[in-house]
Amino acid sequence: MGTKSREVIWGGQIMGAKIRAKHAREEATRAVREADRAEAQAWSVRMEGYGGPSQPSPTIGQCLNGGMGWLEVECNKCKTRASLPLDAIRRPRDTPIWKLEASLKCRSCRKGRYAPPVHMIKLTETQSITRYKWVHPSEER
Ligand SMILES: [Zn+2]
Repeated sequence: MGTKSREVIWGGQIMGAKIRAKHAREEATRAVREADRAEAQAWSVRMEGYGGPSQPSPTIGQCLNGGMGWLEVECNKCKTRASLPLDAIRRPRDTPIWKLEASLKCRSCRKGRYAPPVHMIKLTETQSITRYKWVHPSEER
């Protein structure tokens, strides 16, 4: 067998295997994204429909990957609701979103160091209501 035909036989097989690997990887990425999305939606429905429990919850990264990038929260005191873009939250992407609740404060109710607690309502794909009214303590200086 000459160099030429060997290249054709093996080269073709390698190419085919590489293409299959690429497709399988794309398929897996899609599957993970779908799973993340379903997980985020399940959590969101539980929060909105039953009011929790908020734990366990998907992570920031899972919500973003699943396309559910906005977290809607409500102030326990003034009942103002606002949407937070998860991609702007300076936390590791593997942080479960229930952990964010304790650090979110309502700007309009805040008095000095004290701010009333907030609770999470649901996750949305797009910004559903006002933003910027809520701040993460690490973002305000
Ligand atoms: Zn408030």
